[in-house]
Amino acid sequence: MRFMRRKIKQAGVKILDHSPALELLVDAEGVVAGARGINRQSEQRWTVKAGAVVIATGGCAFLSKALGCNVLTGDGLLMAAEVGADFSGMEFSNAYAISPSFSSVTKTRYYDWASFTYEDGTVIEGAGSKHGRSVIAKTLLTQPVYARLDQGVDEETKAWMRASQPNFFVVFDRAGIDPFTQRFPITLRLEGTVRGTGGIRIADHTCATTVAGLYAAGDAATRELICGGFTGGGSHNAAWAMSSGYWSGESAATYALSLGDKAAQRSLHPVGEAGLQGAGNHPLSPNEAIAATQAEVFPYDRNLFRTTAGLSESLNRLDHIWQEIRNSQTPADSLVVRAREAAAMVATARWMYNSGLQRQETRGMHKRVDYPQQDPNQKYRLLSGGLDTIWVKPEPAVANRELVSV
Ligand SMILES: Cc1cc2nc3c(=O)[nH]c(=O)nc-3n(C[C@H](O)[C@H](O)[C@H](O)COP(=O)(O)OP(=O)(O)OC[C@H]3O[C@@H](n4cnc5c(N)ncnc54)[C@H](O)[C@@H]3O)c2cc1C
Repeated sequence: MRFMRRKIKQAGVKILDHSPALELLVDAEGVVAGARGINRQSEQRWTVKAGAVVIATGGCAFLSKALGCNVLTGDGLLMAAEVGADFSGMEFSNAYAISPSFSSVTKTRYYDWASFTYEDGTVIEGAGSKHGRSVIAKTLLTQPVYARLDQGVDEETKAWMRASQPNFFVVFDRAGIDPFTQRFPITLRLEGTVRGTGGIRIADHTCATTVAGLYAAGDAATRELICGGFTGGGSHNAAWAMSSGYWSGESAATYALSLGDKAAQRSLHPVGEAGLQGAGNHPLSPNEAIAATQAEVFPYDRNLFRTTAGLSESLNRLDHIWQEIRNSQTPADSLVVRAREAAAMVATARWMYNSGLQRQETRGMHKRVDYPQQDPNQKYRLLSGGLDTIWVKPEPAVANRELVSV
């Protein structure tokens, strides 16, 4: 990060720290041409007019307190949808990671060496990090689960583990727990689309979206192109972030240059609405909207183990939260970032669950309790989009073939 910061500073780029983007700017033809946002500390607004925009705001983990994820609220997805971009694979959005229940550390690799037990110390049959996470989730629905890293870990391996992922051990050291010899309670923390694979649809090899002037990179974009409906974390995510960042940046710059003098002459207008401005007469409570959204996406028996009834019930409530946000007053500057995050989270949950409802099979991380098998007839991507009204449809097969080469 430090290296990248230095490089772009040397190139003359001005970095706006702690200054989230709130909305995109478009020209008269709807071409994306900049963004507006706010500085968190000073509450000063900023506007950047640009030849093109790359959305690289990561995925959405719904403020679950998962490691590194509490800044990832789907803002870029909402901004993209507001200019008409669509999504792909939003049903692959229910990644849950193991963490000690008393911490946010969701590094899961070392649980390959764990035994998982009930409170009384009995082993939970079938529980495991890679293939038995559903068993852990099912058990957590009714009782606590404990882990201990005691499966074939010799002294040499312990030393290697400490050296290669020191942050895994910090919480144990602080709590005075030796994870190799003592049991500790665990939970599954939602990482949503961060270690899911759905996101903004990439329209071609330039990482362009379907909207002129808008590009997407990293976790904000769909990663189905590199790993389908499942990613266990691992190197391909960072590789995709860097590769798509490079491709989208290069393509956006080429596009911006192709506009020539026209770019500066365009008259622009902002397009953000939900959580940003409203003509309603009740004030919005972003924290209430966030808590209500979390109540729909955190529970394992809703989001991990999906059913038609569960998804539909959640969608009714999520649609209601969305309407509440849409029909509320314009928030004060001190609340606008939270309000926008709330709007982005509820929007993301609606794309997720509408897509999940439509995919009537179990594929990748998308588990349908009522359709437990993979269905060869549903071997296609699901596209989604929309704001007040959400749509979901299969991607045409021809486009599918073209994207294989990305
Ligand atoms: C616990 C964990 C472990 C992982 N381990 C690995 C691994 O070992 N190997 C691997 O390859 N991948 C791993 N990943 C995945 C990898 O971290 C991501 O794929 C990668 O960070 C994605 O990069 P990104 O730049 O797209 O998004 P991020 O790194 O998530 O960055 C997005 C940035 O956008 C900012 N942002 C959000 N909203 C706004 C806004 N409105 N305005 C401005 N900025 C905004 C955020 O603050 C953040 O800085 C892991 C992920 C997690 C959660």
